[in-house]
Amino acid sequence: LAERLQETMSKIKGKGKVSEADVKTMAREVRLALLEADVNFKVVKQFVNRVKERAVGQEVMKSLTPGQQVIKVVNEELTDLMGREESKLEQAEKPPTVIMMVGLQGSGKTTTAAKLANYLRKEKNRNPMLVAADVYRPAAIDQLNTLGKQLNMPVYSQGTEANPVDIVREGVEQAKAENHDYVLLDTAGRLHVDETLMEELQGMKDAVQPDEVLLVVDAMTGQDAVNVAEHFNEQLSISGVVLTKLDGDTRGGAALSIRAVTEKPIKFAGMGEKIDQLETFHPERMASRILGMGDVLSLIEKAQTNVDEERAKELEKKMRNADISFDDFLEQLEQVKSMGPLEDILGMIPGAGKMKGLKNMQVDESQIGRVEAIVRSMTKAEKQDPKLMNASRKRRIAKGSGTTVQDVNKLLKQFEDMKKMMKQMSSMNGKKKGKGKGG
Ligand code: GDP
Ligand code: MG
Repeated sequence: LAERLQETMSKIKGKGKVSEADVKTMAREVRLALLEADVNFKVVKQFVNRVKERAVGQEVMKSLTPGQQVIKVVNEELTDLMGREESKLEQAEKPPTVIMMVGLQGSGKTTTAAKLANYLRKEKNRNPMLVAADVYRPAAIDQLNTLGKQLNMPVYSQGTEANPVDIVREGVEQAKAENHDYVLLDTAGRLHVDETLMEELQGMKDAVQPDEVLLVVDAMTGQDAVNVAEHFNEQLSISGVVLTKLDGDTRGGAALSIRAVTEKPIKFAGMGEKIDQLETFHPERMASRILGMGDVLSLIEKAQTNVDEERAKELEKKMRNADISFDDFLEQLEQVKSMGPLEDILGMIPGAGKMKGLKNMQVDESQIGRVEAIVRSMTKAEKQDPKLMNASRKRRIAKGSGTTVQDVNKLLKQFEDMKKMMKQMSSMNGKKKGKGKGG
């Protein structure tokens, strides 16, 4: 999905003007991309219509080119589709809050129950308890027990002969008695949705009245995940979704459709097998990931609030021509510092992951201070033209900045690499640019 959208987006990104025909082409591409990614066709249709309406009718913002605006619209609509806001866990008025995990076999219920318990204790300072109510696979109880031991967290269980409804009822009673404020119920799954499973889950739900029924679905299963979500929601009325295995090479389709089809929020994302690899689900980040363009728009927005627009344009032009100086570099550095961790910023640059020069350019946060000192020790001429740099100048700069000549060399090298990267980028982005304004 990402690849295809990215391609489409890069085609329109550089455009100075977007005609209605462009919007149509773009809409068709977006539609194909979404369908290919297993997004439900009804969802796709609505989505594309909304994008078209907004892209054609929108007011022209001064700061963005129309091409960028279309991307912005697509990004916003994708975000909307997934619920815009992050969605919080419900909390019982009277503890304990009961969270029931449901889903198909292998979707990640047991793992996610443990991850969630860990999250609640670590991030929210809670005191959760786990309940093993999957009695069909003996290994399931062991699995949860092992995770409980690993976390040093209590796990309530009975034998495999016990009735799951009794287990969860008694488990919640015990949690109450022991003053746990959260109880996580791990339940059994099946390979496919079936009546018996639903009836049993319904019985458990009736017995303990959970505050959350979280459906755990495997993002790798694409459209199947969406069907599963639809079924579970119809029959069990879930309260939210955890999308697991998003760390894999997954297409974003499931994330997009689930929300639209069930109208239930995705609350968490599983990002790996390890116990701490659970994240709050961020619709906006997912939209950007799907678009494959990083958070380029939020970068633009951030930059706008921070720098004067004219200056930004000037810089953009300089970057495009790869003729920035160390003065510009310093300015960028200041700005970058006000935006947040460098790694994130680099991640926001579309295609940056693929760039060759980037490896050498990875900037260690702790080194920013040193870099700044070096640049500030340069003369005006040196900043404008790094080629002036010779051995004695380097020694002077190193001394002035409290660094070594190697440090200075390293920075100069990085600076050259960065310029090279800018050249690469502008030839990537600019090829189809035509006669854009200001360029
Ligand atoms: P259950 O049958 O629904 O209880 O599923 P499990 O919790 O036993 O998980 C099934 C498999 O998926 C296990 O091997 C887990 O380690 C793996 N798994 C669960 N969540 C994730 C995730 O977010 N990413 C990855 N890569 N693997 C996961
Ligand atoms: Mg399990």
